[in-house]
Amino acid sequence: MIANNIQRIRQQINEVAQDCGRKAEDIRLLMVTKTVSPERIKQALATGETLIGENKIQELVKKQDELTAVAHEVHMIGHLQTNKVKEAIAYADCIQSLDRLRLVKRLHNRLEFENKNIKALLQVNVSAETAKSGVAPEQALNLIKEILPLERIHLTGLMTIGANTDDENDIRRGFRLLRQLQQQAQDKYGDYSDFSVLSMGMSGDMRIAIEEGSTLVRVGSAIFGVRTEMV
Ligand SMILES: *Cc1c(COP(=O)(O)O)cnc(C)c1O
Repeated sequence: MIANNIQRIRQQINEVAQDCGRKAEDIRLLMVTKTVSPERIKQALATGETLIGENKIQELVKKQDELTAVAHEVHMIGHLQTNKVKEAIAYADCIQSLDRLRLVKRLHNRLEFENKNIKALLQVNVSAETAKSGVAPEQALNLIKEILPLERIHLTGLMTIGANTDDENDIRRGFRLLRQLQQQAQDKYGDYSDFSVLSMGMSGDMRIAIEEGSTLVRVGSAIFGVRTEMV
């Protein structure tokens, strides 16, 4: 079941990439494992996939202890509280949800203290929905400018969650805006960092995201089924 779903998603990525003249290998698949048990995560990793994402630090920490035997990379994709940066550094390979200066500073202080580095993406709220985390698009370049001198945080690109609507044009407009911001960041700060990662697209809007340049899609329910727990 899980393996079949992953195969189907991979097939879709291939087809959409081909349709819009992109290479499928330029698009990474991140399996969103929130609310999914370690047993089922292991089934997914057994297919050869290596990238997973969690949106809550407590859940991420709890499950990682059961997944140590399986090689994989884990990304933090949910809102990160400043008092959880220690756990994030200990367990996540990349934080996709950097979205405010206070968090950035706390994270960097802790990285200095531990003599560590971490990869990160800047989360941008392209749809301006108040329920969503993410820096406002018009603030994104300012925040990037603040992060760049902090050498323990390796900013590698941008992340967003598509608009929560059935209107494909609205969703597409948001993804396009993220790509424009990436281009602006590259033009302005490309000498200091590489902003090649565009994390956008989930089960419901993956196709649009790939058409608009996504390099990392985050897929949960299309692989593991609809979540019944609150997230
Ligand atoms: C839950 C979640 C996803 C995956 O959503 P699906 O619709 O289940 O594919 C992707 N990104 C983030 C940040 C999430 O919280």
